[in-house]
Amino acid sequence: MTYATTHSGTTPGDFGRELLSNLYYQRGTTLESASAQDAYHSLALTVRNRLVDRYIRTAAAHYQENPRFIYYLSAEYMLGRQLDQNLLYSGTQECAHSALAALGLSGDELDALDVEPGLGNGGLGRLAACLLDAMATQDIPAVGYGIRYDYGIFQQEFQDGAQVEHPDDWTFYGNPWEFHASDDQQKVGFYGHTEALDGVRRKWVPGEIVLGEPSHMLVPGYGTTTVNIIRLWKARASPQSFNLSHFGAGQYGEAVEEIVRSENISKVLYPDDSTELGRELRLKQQHFLVTCALRDIVRRFRLCNSDWDHFADKVVIQLNDTHPVMAIAELMRMLVDEEGLDWDRAWSITRRTFAYTCHTLLPEALETWPVELMRRLLPRHLEIIFLINHLFLQEVADRYPGDDAKLRELSIIAEGAEQRVRMAHLAVVGSSAVNGVAELHSRLLAATTLHGFANLWPGRFHNVTNGVSPRRFVRLANPRLAELITERLGDGGWLTDLDQLSRLEPAAADPEFRRRWREVKRLNREDLAEQTLATTGVVLDPDALCDVMIKRFHEYKRQLLRVLHVVTLYHRIRRGEVADVVPRSIVFGGKAAPGYYVAKRIMKLANRVAEVVNADPAVSPYLKMVFLPDYNVSRAQLIIPAADLSEQISLAGKEASGTSNMKLALNGALTIGTLDGANVEIRDRVGGENFFLFGLDTAEVAALRGRGYRPRDHYERDAELREVVDAVAGWDGELADDLMHRDEYLTLADFRAYVDCQDRVARAWRDPEDWTRMSILNTARSGFFSADRTVRDYCRDIWHVTPVYVPR
Ligand SMILES: *Cc1c(COP(=O)(O)O)cnc(C)c1O
Repeated sequence: MTYATTHSGTTPGDFGRELLSNLYYQRGTTLESASAQDAYHSLALTVRNRLVDRYIRTAAAHYQENPRFIYYLSAEYMLGRQLDQNLLYSGTQECAHSALAALGLSGDELDALDVEPGLGNGGLGRLAACLLDAMATQDIPAVGYGIRYDYGIFQQEFQDGAQVEHPDDWTFYGNPWEFHASDDQQKVGFYGHTEALDGVRRKWVPGEIVLGEPSHMLVPGYGTTTVNIIRLWKARASPQSFNLSHFGAGQYGEAVEEIVRSENISKVLYPDDSTELGRELRLKQQHFLVTCALRDIVRRFRLCNSDWDHFADKVVIQLNDTHPVMAIAELMRMLVDEEGLDWDRAWSITRRTFAYTCHTLLPEALETWPVELMRRLLPRHLEIIFLINHLFLQEVADRYPGDDAKLRELSIIAEGAEQRVRMAHLAVVGSSAVNGVAELHSRLLAATTLHGFANLWPGRFHNVTNGVSPRRFVRLANPRLAELITERLGDGGWLTDLDQLSRLEPAAADPEFRRRWREVKRLNREDLAEQTLATTGVVLDPDALCDVMIKRFHEYKRQLLRVLHVVTLYHRIRRGEVADVVPRSIVFGGKAAPGYYVAKRIMKLANRVAEVVNADPAVSPYLKMVFLPDYNVSRAQLIIPAADLSEQISLAGKEASGTSNMKLALNGALTIGTLDGANVEIRDRVGGENFFLFGLDTAEVAALRGRGYRPRDHYERDAELREVVDAVAGWDGELADDLMHRDEYLTLADFRAYVDCQDRVARAWRDPEDWTRMSILNTARSGFFSADRTVRDYCRDIWHVTPVYVPR
């Protein structure tokens, strides 16, 4: 193995020379004539080159060691910007800074050209990115597999307060972080029919073949040599698809019809993370991803192994929600039909290989596919799923003799007017481990959604509480705070061992440390105010309490409850009841699925309220409200460091975990929240006295629904609420009407508790010393929420994988 070491110079001079060389040889230009894109691409390549050597060493160590690998399958990744990450992880931040200055280039200007790959919707995709980061940081051999969408999550703009979606052509100017491997293509079949071979073996004759073309991006570990990769697949039509004779006859549309049909598969990310879509193209995407990934996994397995019975010893496939669950049927098809293994042996290998993470409790988000659609699109896979189900139901029948209801409950196929395949059931049956993403969520999963399975196989169910990357969400997002923490703790070791934050606890009692903590927050709020002014024209007061709610718009998350409180404050201020009001900046961020009608109305209402509040000179000294458009990872990195208050106010029992709650607590924001998702664990750790708890818990929600919930009663009983709902009626009668008569997410039931709790927040804010003490304690006690701990939990309970240390 030969290593090139020419790209590892450690001085600004070396860095600058390499940058100029990239400018010259990769962009074909010179510093004098370079465009901003030329300079940006050359900078990116200079940084990337410094990770390549580590990547080659990692691959070599893995080849030598032949370890057990984690293959993470996810339809979504929210990687965040690569430039800031790779500068930090390659240890070239300072060197690059000086080199750019010496060349007369503006680092900030080039940084602004680094486009974040928005290949995900929200929490689920960001979790995938945080786990890849943590796996590399802990030297776990891992590959992430995903789809290289041409268009990522839409860009959000507001017109008259309403969300307008623009396509996200994220590689318009090219993507310097990506390595293409067009000679490593895989063939993916669709449609067609099956033919008998011998026994259960059959041959699938697809009616259409699409090519999957891989590219990869580097996933460096922090503070270690390991560089893993994420492999993304793009759909390509075969060259024969171009119809030359149509083109020659001037029929340009017809000439490319087949190409367009094939390549549409990876054209766009589905911009919905909360409801099941059931579109043929989406199922095509899923099958495309898992086929490409599995073929690649088998290719990699065969580099060092030959015996199928060792497959599950070398390969763990982690399914991030149900989107990649077709992999279970596809692996069975490969083993039985193509490799000729008998069914039981193939099933044992398959079951041992897969593990499944469930991300929801919402029934409307549980994915199912019409049997007839699957029969047409993937006929052999459907046959295999039916056989898996048949054998599984025999097992159930043995266990619960004569219990037809049990069979119907657990069956992979839902019967009804239209038969459907339940992907979560297939996932549980075909995996050796199933996990929820926070303690409460895992408990509710086993008690409700997957209750029957948890009874059948209790040992298969686990909890792995989510976590976030402290590199991304503290060090990169909040360099000032990171520096202060490092100074106090003596070194930066906490960034890979986040429990060390507990050593900050004594500092909460140190007035000088508190002063500096406040200074960091204040500077971060100034940065946010500056960006807010530039993007929205709204002036924020950097001394005001920065109160943030940043997440996808969904009714269960209850942005509407947040708006009701803002209107409450507005009314109080208008009436001159300002004795108990503290100045606040209300910050919103989040996108709504384009077809999610109610979420979009709530968003429009929020913008309307912001307009009214900000335009009122009597109110402005106390209250400002801004909705920052196009919430994404970069925006999160801007908002989170400035936040004092973290709004985590979902209806109890609806949020699986949440991760912005963790990011915010780590950055010293205090949480106002319900007992939902990981809020429960955050509160347990930071202490109830440092957390603003309000609202119904899951048992009370169930009890209230059992009694028959009547939102109107709350309206009639509470004069302040009445005033607020009446005001909402003036802006959006439909929303107000729904609140009064349906209120599916019990907004009115939690209103009074929420508003009173916000009053407690205001009182606490008036004592800056005590607030700062609580803020420091939130950070000091949130070390548990590192994605490193999440990965350690997966390794211990589910993956049973050990690190491979890569020599320097
Ligand atoms: C962390 C994160 C999320 C998840 O937020 P929740 O409040 O946990 O739903 C969504 N989007 C982005 C860009 C994030 O960084």
